[in-house]
Amino acid sequence: MRIDILTLFPELCESVLSESIIGRARAAGHVTIQCHNIRDYTLDKHQRVDDAPYGGGMGMVMQAQPIADCFKAVPEVVPGKKPHLIYMSPQGQTLTQEKVKELAGMEQIVLLCGHYEGVDERVLDALVDEEISIGDYVLTGGELPACTVADAVCRMLPGVLPNEDAYEIESHYSHLLEYPQYTRPAVWEGRAVPDILLSGDHAKVHRYQKKEALRNTLKKRPDLLASADLSEEEKQLLAELQAEPQ
Ligand code: SAM
Repeated sequence: MRIDILTLFPELCESVLSESIIGRARAAGHVTIQCHNIRDYTLDKHQRVDDAPYGGGMGMVMQAQPIADCFKAVPEVVPGKKPHLIYMSPQGQTLTQEKVKELAGMEQIVLLCGHYEGVDERVLDALVDEEISIGDYVLTGGELPACTVADAVCRMLPGVLPNEDAYEIESHYSHLLEYPQYTRPAVWEGRAVPDILLSGDHAKVHRYQKKEALRNTLKKRPDLLASADLSEEEKQLLAELQAEPQ
């Protein structure tokens, strides 16, 4: 898969996406990520990329020309097929694991980062396929949202995680939260790891983890249970949890 990021701050995205698992995935060729500096494409002799909004108002708006030319310079993975362009925007659909799965199935995505007051609306009309938000709050720029999307998408790609089914048991993949995790020592400051995890009985551990995943979801995000596709065993475990005294 190929991910291109259009930004005024390519070093910011590069620094985030060069480390740890994503950095190694790039080095191993599991994903190609390229950051493009929108400013390199401005035709303005003073290298400007923004201007005051028509009609007045606060701040500056990113101009259409440098963004459009930067997008046109992105190599097409499928020749002749316009890459899927996503504008990172607080006005977009909120990112979910379902959307991440969908994006990870594409050959190429391009992430456009706004800054200041955002981008000229005509860019959205002419080029943008969808807008994605990372939550109902406003950041100074689209770089952190773009890195968030790139990170979440990359870890779904084959070869990126050492254990390829690791993401399937994690929170949100199947609309449940993950069970609590513990590591050494077995007792820390008087708090012991649940005995069953030290029992070596894999079937019992598996059942316990399923039940604790349901307990976590019931406690922290009960709204998720409405869209979870529970197995018969999970339905039984959930009934047990709901029958427990509060
Ligand atoms: N004036 C815009 C509005 O009210 O909708 C907000 C602009 S914001 C200060 C600047 C840029 O940050 C946006 O163009 C967008 O790319 C990015 N951004 C801010 N918050 C975001 C969020 N929650 N999700 C995704 N991108 C966001």
